[in-house]
Amino acid sequence: MNYELVIGLETHVELSTESKIFCSCGGHSSPKEPNDCVCPACSGMPGMLPVMNKRVVELAVTAGLMLNCEISRYTTFDKKNYYYPDLPCAYQITQLNHPICTNGLVNLKTSAGSRDIRIKQIHMEEDAGKLVHEGKFSFVDFNRTSVPLIEIVTQPDFRSAEEVVAYLTKLKSMFRSSGISECEEGAMRCDVNISVRPEGSEEFGVRTEIKNMSSLEAIEKAIRYESQRHMDALEFETEELVQETRRFDDVSGKTFAMRNKETEADYRYFPDANIMPIIIDDEWLEQIKSAKPVAVDEKAEGYREAGISEKEIEMIISNFKISKLLDDTIALGCNAKDSAVWILTDCAGILRKDGKTLNELEVTAEQLSAIIKMVDSGDINRTAGRKILIAVIEDGVDPVQYCKEQGLDRKVDMSAIEAVIDEVIAANPTAVADYKGGKEKALQAIFGACMRQLKGAGDPATIKATLVQKLK
Ligand code: ADP
Ligand code: MG
Ligand code: ZN
Repeated sequence: MNYELVIGLETHVELSTESKIFCSCGGHSSPKEPNDCVCPACSGMPGMLPVMNKRVVELAVTAGLMLNCEISRYTTFDKKNYYYPDLPCAYQITQLNHPICTNGLVNLKTSAGSRDIRIKQIHMEEDAGKLVHEGKFSFVDFNRTSVPLIEIVTQPDFRSAEEVVAYLTKLKSMFRSSGISECEEGAMRCDVNISVRPEGSEEFGVRTEIKNMSSLEAIEKAIRYESQRHMDALEFETEELVQETRRFDDVSGKTFAMRNKETEADYRYFPDANIMPIIIDDEWLEQIKSAKPVAVDEKAEGYREAGISEKEIEMIISNFKISKLLDDTIALGCNAKDSAVWILTDCAGILRKDGKTLNELEVTAEQLSAIIKMVDSGDINRTAGRKILIAVIEDGVDPVQYCKEQGLDRKVDMSAIEAVIDEVIAANPTAVADYKGGKEKALQAIFGACMRQLKGAGDPATIKATLVQKLK
């Protein structure tokens, strides 16, 4: 018999906030050493109260807008109770009754064509701590407790591992390009729910949930193994399928039962009376909407229309810092394709000489656009522009002021250029004679002398043409 694969995902994403969700400890990227970022609140000291981080709500709403969700105007938190050493309060603050976003939709392009995946909901919650096991000892690191997460729950709409990978890849670039999350290793974790059913059947089969997967490669392998296990169970009655939670072992490539699937009642959910319901009024929603970055697809399309290449688009979209710099530079009136070249070729090249990458770029859109505009207006040539860019990147100089100080902005009228050329021709009789005698190379020496005297001012092509003209 032929079987159809049915998959639903629960994806946890650590948000890139500066502080945790309910206290002022540093957020996800702050800690250096274990238990660096811990306070009485996030380590579960009795009587400490949570204070909501407004930014978390804004990022969750932004994610919801990007995933075409309805945004709840009234949203509340609940306590999910369970006991585990990495959970100091013995409950996790999460959302059950009134999640922040519901009913979204993501479009995927795969080999099966265009597919829509429905988003059931997005909710906000706090992360748990981390257990570190060393020999017979176990340590608890609370740096991660109360780091803000959003959990994105899909309907069981995926029909292949390829669709799952396409979806997660799309979420990643969306969240990176909008500053919601860097989605680096471990910051995006997935629970994969799988069942199979005979092709053509409307009913869902028994599902199992593979917990806490973070690599796309492992997710693909786990889906392959688990779906085969389900099909074998149905086809050959090798075992009875039960709804349960499983873990994937990367070494053997197999999944193993962890525990029977817990139900909602197991967690004794109840409303968290310490956090007031959050009301998102029109004004706040409008504010979040206006700050919302354009969705990745639209953004890529915009870049494509501006003539930026696919490879460059990918580099830009996967890097929030760079995409923001480019967008801001364009917003300041610079040409899109041109600005992309300045960033991806010039800035990257200058950094590379120091063994650095674009992630370490410290240039503002104001600085960059000032340089591009001076070049575009013909005030300086591109070589001078690049020289200024180097000084901006390496020493943080003000581009306009630096240009003046270095005398790069001299608007050289033709008569000044001609005077310099005449001077150089007069001062280099030997080279001139060589050139006239047929030595093409001599021209380069004379031209070089002109450029030196002009200190990079003027357009090289025009200068060369004028020089050749005069030598004739
Ligand atoms: P629970 O509350 O038990 O976690 P949910 O209804 O919230 O259950 O579903 C959790 C995830 O499981 C969702 O992503 C959903 O799409 C997926 N899911 C539900 N039923 C199935 C099924 N039969 N096969 C595959 N995935 C499923
Ligand atoms: Mg669940
Ligand atoms: Zn804290």
